Amino acid sequence: MSKNNQFVKFDKVDKSYDGKILVVKDLNLDIAEGEFITMLGPSGSGKTTCLMMLAGFETPTNGEIYLDNNKISNIPPHKRGIGMVFQNYALFPHMTVYENLAFPLKVRKIPKDEADKKIDKALSMVSLQGFEARMPMQLSGGQQQRVAVARSLVFDPKVVLMDEPLGALDKNLRESMQYEIKHIHESIGVTVVYVTHDQSEALTMSNRIAVFNEGKVQQLSNPDKLYEEPVNSFVAEFIGENNTFRGEIIDASKTQCKVKLDSGADILANPIVVKNKGEKTTVSLRPERAIINPPEKMDNNHKGKIEEVIYHGDHTRLRVDLLGNKEFILKVPNSSARMDIKTGNEISIGWNSLDCRALDPK
Ligand code: ADP
Ligand code: MG
Repeated sequence: MSKNNQFVKFDKVDKSYDGKILVVKDLNLDIAEGEFITMLGPSGSGKTTCLMMLAGFETPTNGEIYLDNNKISNIPPHKRGIGMVFQNYALFPHMTVYENLAFPLKVRKIPKDEADKKIDKALSMVSLQGFEARMPMQLSGGQQQRVAVARSLVFDPKVVLMDEPLGALDKNLRESMQYEIKHIHESIGVTVVYVTHDQSEALTMSNRIAVFNEGKVQQLSNPDKLYEEPVNSFVAEFIGENNTFRGEIIDASKTQCKVKLDSGADILANPIVVKNKGEKTTVSLRPERAIINPPEKMDNNHKGKIEEVIYHGDHTRLRVDLLGNKEFILKVPNSSARMDIKTGNEISIGWNSLDCRALDPK
């Protein structure tokens, strides 16, 4: 059987809590069976609301949600076959690890011997076999979240929802748990809808990412495309590091457009969103796409002054005053480290106009 590319479907979904403001606006999102999709966006952008509607704890104001081709609006949460790991949806503190995992199976009336097998399998997935008798307070934060992950998977759900599940963990643990969850997903192939405000977490874990801002999906694509080809200034700023210049298109007659910057200089850019002469634009360029002492043939070549040099081990990070942007960031590989990289020195900086995207003005 071929896989269902619309295993979860948000169809024209709006949500308002107060009957006035829409906190989710016209959400159309298809999630494939077995996919790991992440909703990424700043606090308040509507991510949790989307998960709550899918889980059944909130109702869409308009539109429909489908799961496995069925409308789910009339199905109560516990009958939707959805597992959940929420930062604030903790383990039952008065139950052992075993009882926590047995709970969703009991609700579903799974016989005990079958339940025991499922519990054993789920605990082995998160490397916690032997912890059955522990109480949650006898576990570390990371172990508790692994139990929560096991509990979300133990009844073989159709979909697992994870809302900032690693938010309370420290950086190292969070990073290792990101890989752990990613590997569990790869080994069992369950559909995961993951929520985070952390862009590096989203890039690490996801097949696709939906970037949210103010209740709207700004861009839906795989991680590399999101980073390399942001479709608007919000996404360009939110994902990774980004250099920007503001200006106006003064020549749009060629493949690359000419932009007059507010500082007076002209640069060549790739007309992505803003394409017409006379229009304002914010131009976006990833730091690693700019190089020092560019070859002659490069179509952008400008002089800047080094403001700061920071050694980062594998590369050196330069902050440069360039064409009116005093915060222009450049990453120089340390293999090409040079004597003239010193604060106060003038250097030539170049980039290919294709890498420099004329986006909506900010
Ligand atoms: P996110 O998860 O992206 O931080 P939320 O979905 O939690 O965003 O919130 C989106 C908007 O909806 C916010 O403005 C928030 O204040 C509001 N909101 C969330 N939950 C409720 C609720 N239960 N009642 C009223 N407003 C809510
Ligand atoms: Mg949230």
